[in-house]
Amino acid sequence: MEIRYKSTRGNRETISASEAILKGLADDGGLYVPTAVPELGIELSELAKMNYREVAYLVMSKFFSDFTEEELKHCIDSAYDSKFDTDEIAPLVTAGKYEFLELFHGATIAFKDMALSILPHLLTTSARKNKIENEIVILTATSGDTGKAALAGFADVPGTKIIVFYPKGGVSRVQELQMVTQKGENTFVVGVRGNFDDAQTGVKKMFNDTKLKALLEENHYQFSSANSINIGRLVPQVAYYVWAYGQMIKKGKIAPGEKVNFDVPTGNFGNILAGYFAKKMGIPAGKLICASNDNKVLYDFFKTGVYDRKREFILTSSPSMDILISSNLERLIYLIAGESEEQNRAYMKALTEEGKYEISADQKEKLDDFYGGFATEEENALGIRTHFEEDHYITDTHTGVAACVYDKYAAETGDMTPTVIVSTASPYKFARSVMTAIDAKYESEDDFALIKELNRISGIAIPNAIAEILDAEIRHDTVCEIDGMEAEVKRFLGI
Ligand SMILES: *Cc1c(COP(=O)(O)O)cnc(C)c1O
Repeated sequence: MEIRYKSTRGNRETISASEAILKGLADDGGLYVPTAVPELGIELSELAKMNYREVAYLVMSKFFSDFTEEELKHCIDSAYDSKFDTDEIAPLVTAGKYEFLELFHGATIAFKDMALSILPHLLTTSARKNKIENEIVILTATSGDTGKAALAGFADVPGTKIIVFYPKGGVSRVQELQMVTQKGENTFVVGVRGNFDDAQTGVKKMFNDTKLKALLEENHYQFSSANSINIGRLVPQVAYYVWAYGQMIKKGKIAPGEKVNFDVPTGNFGNILAGYFAKKMGIPAGKLICASNDNKVLYDFFKTGVYDRKREFILTSSPSMDILISSNLERLIYLIAGESEEQNRAYMKALTEEGKYEISADQKEKLDDFYGGFATEEENALGIRTHFEEDHYITDTHTGVAACVYDKYAAETGDMTPTVIVSTASPYKFARSVMTAIDAKYESEDDFALIKELNRISGIAIPNAIAEILDAEIRHDTVCEIDGMEAEVKRFLGI
């Protein structure tokens, strides 16, 4: 079956997978969705016998119809290789009563590597297939982890430039250092005086600016996105849900066909949406548990059917989830609205103009696959400490939120279905928050002393991603105002 892609706000015109990857965001401001969700088409028991690359090929070959086997296998082999510190790529680890799917074994020790290590290959392959001669300019807003993972993926990739905007003061020290020390002649990192939503809105504006687009074209450039709005990021993420299900069988936790819940620390709704697609492909997923921090706009949405971003933006110890406009939710809204672009457009217009929208009762019923929960800063810190003391396993702050929400979910519903907690970052990336959660005495110590102490108490080797920033040179020190973002892009491109 050939899968094509259409915009959530568009006129039903469809384009190929490679075209959708190249464009990132549709011209009408919508997100690309597949015309149908393909079926896995394999016995579930087979999954337990496959390695990560095989599962990735199985999933991606269904969605990326216009890639040849050779092209896709080349992309997969180039992405999931020794950049990951384990052959399994995404190990499923049991700790106490929890199953963690560890997605942080890639180059930048956050789950963004799962998609961003392959996106540059998908994108350059797509450019070749579509005979694109322009240089591709990756324009990305980051709440901390996407930025570094995209920079690492695109650094010195011929035919590309990458520009990353991050909220100055809104990311962890390690996250910032990882970005501002990025090497590569084609990389540019800018701190924005605003929060993540400001940066993301600024980037979306540039994508939709036809004048800017024409100016780029004149200079043989075109934009694409490394954000999770790009279908080339979403689809590779579906693969690890399918993989995790196979690993649950392999470890004897379930029999083929039995249900598994997935519990996902959520910000932009990209990760958990990939889980929803995995379920639609035929993975017997039970609940998709959507875990939020104090920015609990999604929790409120699942509870009430009202999405309301008009609220205080709270900086938390899980900064990659400090988001009030979860971009990928638009894809789910479009699907539960019966793929009605008019309905979706109306909601998105209301979100832009009034800051909120309310879905209908019918539509809300279709959200039954999901459960929304949240954890406060105190609950998260207590959870991280308890978990360390009882199971000797240290989660990062994002995964900590998910673990807390799982406990609340299990207590509230009594649901005993085996549950996989999607673990999105190494604790090293958020060493300060993790260590002070474990013991307040660490508050006075500097970040690098804390990293050494984390190594001592956990016994987990310090990842390369941390070791390499310890004495790296700062290469990017540009900071701009929210309305100065476009000027920075033009300056870097010399247009
Ligand atoms: C990006 C990120 C998240 C949120 O993922 P979404 O796909 O934006 O929902 C959670 N945890 C970490 C560590 C992240 O980097």
